[in-house]
Amino acid sequence: MNALSFDNRFINNLPADSETDNYCRSVENAAFSFVSAAKTSAPKLIAVTPLFAKQLGFSEQDIKGSEFPQVMTGNKLLPGMQSYALCYGGHQFGQWAGQLGDGRAVNLGELTTTSLGHQTLQLKGAGKTPYSRQADGMAVLRSSIREFLCSEAMFHLGIPTTRALSLCLSGEQVVRDKMYDGNASLEPCAIVCRVSASFLRFGSFQLPASRGEEKLLTKLVQHSIKTDFPHLLIDGVDFTREIYLAWFSEISQRTSAMIVHWMRVGFVHGVMNTDNMSILGETIDYGPYGWIDDFDLNWTPNTTDAYEKRYRFGGQAEIGQWNLFQLANAIFPLIGEAEPLQAIMSDFALNYQNSWRTMMASKLGFKDYQGQSDLYLFQSLEKLLTTVETDMTIFYRLLATLPNDLNTDAHEQWLALLGPCFYKLHELEAGYLQDFTSWLKRYLVRLNYDGLTQVQRAEAMNQVNPKYVLRNYLAQQAIELAEQGDFSEIHKLQLILQSPYKEQAEFQDYAKKRPDWARDKVGCSMLSCSS
Ligand code: AMP
Ligand code: MG
Repeated sequence: MNALSFDNRFINNLPADSETDNYCRSVENAAFSFVSAAKTSAPKLIAVTPLFAKQLGFSEQDIKGSEFPQVMTGNKLLPGMQSYALCYGGHQFGQWAGQLGDGRAVNLGELTTTSLGHQTLQLKGAGKTPYSRQADGMAVLRSSIREFLCSEAMFHLGIPTTRALSLCLSGEQVVRDKMYDGNASLEPCAIVCRVSASFLRFGSFQLPASRGEEKLLTKLVQHSIKTDFPHLLIDGVDFTREIYLAWFSEISQRTSAMIVHWMRVGFVHGVMNTDNMSILGETIDYGPYGWIDDFDLNWTPNTTDAYEKRYRFGGQAEIGQWNLFQLANAIFPLIGEAEPLQAIMSDFALNYQNSWRTMMASKLGFKDYQGQSDLYLFQSLEKLLTTVETDMTIFYRLLATLPNDLNTDAHEQWLALLGPCFYKLHELEAGYLQDFTSWLKRYLVRLNYDGLTQVQRAEAMNQVNPKYVLRNYLAQQAIELAEQGDFSEIHKLQLILQSPYKEQAEFQDYAKKRPDWARDKVGCSMLSCSS
């Protein structure tokens, strides 16, 4: 590990907090604070992502060695590492929250890699920082498992995300009131080493803007462009308003693309606050997220948001745009004019709409989106899937098996194929058979228009419709075992979710509908922000 090389551009190029003592405070005119991770008493590696580790430059011996958990829990810095916490702000649930910052994340520096460029290593749950406010800087095992498994699942689904390198127990325990209902208990702490080219968030720009720190704001924008959007720079030309706008436009496009992916696989982020929006358009901060079992655009896993449902499944694009609007406000001093920013915001809506339509067409196995009549098919399908409790993931996989010449009037025939995706088959049979049949009829006509064989169509559909996702109850089962010291289910899920689009005959049980016991269970269908 000592051969790994670090090039810490962020801390070398941006202003540091001049105070180096570790106590909570307002940090002004600085992008970060130097801080040491808390010492951990009994670091133990639970899981690692070997292929990713290799890409980052870690050898097999590195991962197996006793030094690895020491480094991955913050007890030991490798040569070239420097530890620091980022200063940022954000809107939480629509309200400006002021300074937030890395309250429990400690960055270790930027690893230089041959295939992935600069990659920042960050320990989440590594102790108090100047940004911890009233909290303890720790992360509990259950939330760390959820972050570790889900970020990797997203990566293998082809969705932009921060990565996870390792998951370690620290040896510490903390008290958490899991459901904020007065039932506090001791929980084991864990640390995920997460990795990204940049951990800048929308809120990283909002905070200096809110304080009138224009110099810092400009430096941050320029740093982001130089390090992560270098293609926007023109040789020999200084930064211009046009370059800033191109940067904002690309962030907008990446954000849109990310959310279209979420809608494709049924992922609900759960806390789309502006401090949880990556400037790279990566999915970041896996907290009370959830996966759609039964299709419901109105669903949110986050109990804190149960009433307003601000971050519900179907509202994510609108929130993405709202968040971009906050970022636009933040960088306004660099642009000086509202119109070009507004134009980019309008493009977001258009761009999202077009990409969503193309995505839906691909989910249904169409060659491409053909206009209004397709849109009508999508909308009527969404209505049906909502009305008849239907498992989204299973539905699309089974749809790929429908023969092109299916006789839709013979209900038993299509029910035999699609039946397993319905949670309440009797409801379908009692009231919606006709509606579903007529939708299928129109669907088959549309398929014939494209003229693909069933095999061709299934092959294309199975590349965009995953068979395996991190169902909420699967993560919860892995957590409950891990809390008893058995980490095998984490490793099994890691393996299965590495190939989410493949059939994997031996793991069929992991592609089944949510069992009834998990319908209203804490951790399976509802989660709080407690982590
Ligand atoms: P999140 O909801 O995880 O995005 O966190 C929002 C803010 O609270 C961020 O500034 C976090 O760093 C901070 N935070 C969350 N949990 C803790 C904790 N246990 N200790 C310190 N800060 C925390
Ligand atoms: Mg956060």
